[in-house]
Amino acid sequence: MLKFLIVEDEKPIADLIAMSLSGAGCRCVCESDGMAAADRIERETFDLILLDVMLPGLDGFSLMEYIRPREIPVIFLTARGSVSDRVRGLRAGADDYLVKPFEIIELQARVETVLRRYHKLEREIVTGGLTIDVQSRTVQRDGAIIPLTMKEYELLLLFARNPGIALYRETIYERVWESDWLGDSRTVDLHVQRLRRKVGWEDKIRAVYKVGYRYEP
Ligand code: CA
Repeated sequence: MLKFLIVEDEKPIADLIAMSLSGAGCRCVCESDGMAAADRIERETFDLILLDVMLPGLDGFSLMEYIRPREIPVIFLTARGSVSDRVRGLRAGADDYLVKPFEIIELQARVETVLRRYHKLEREIVTGGLTIDVQSRTVQRDGAIIPLTMKEYELLLLFARNPGIALYRETIYERVWESDWLGDSRTVDLHVQRLRRKVGWEDKIRAVYKVGYRYEP
């Protein structure tokens, strides 16, 4: 499941975006303050960020400094008529922008285009000797299907989509189990161990001291 961050201080707009994107198999989290969003971006992984320009705490342009090294696609949300904001946003590394107010259908189309550009809507991921078919949710090695549980599959997908990135146990838990982390590191550790064995990634999913795990293809 893809995870989006919506950084927007106008709650009705944030809610509307979350509502219109959540249906399509994505999970949305919202932040209304720039500083809080920066903290979140440092700790969690996202597949896409929808970013308002004018925000309390830290504005959208400053937030781009946190986002750019992480290579997360960004769609800027700008006010009608502010051409300079749009240009500045694109120069700062945004992938696209939406002018408020926007139609839901336009939002969805732009999100889809940006995700496709980043291969987030891929049909197949080939990595670490595995072929992961995202449509049928099957995993193969040398032509043989490896049976995985739903959680193991989600866990594999998370690693496959974030190669080389140290993922916090907290992040892993929230992404795979889709609920709040209550400090239960055993669940994550056990599933990682099982996944490693099943797919033959014993040397590829590395433990990262005090953080969690990193997939090194
Ligand atoms: Ca705003």
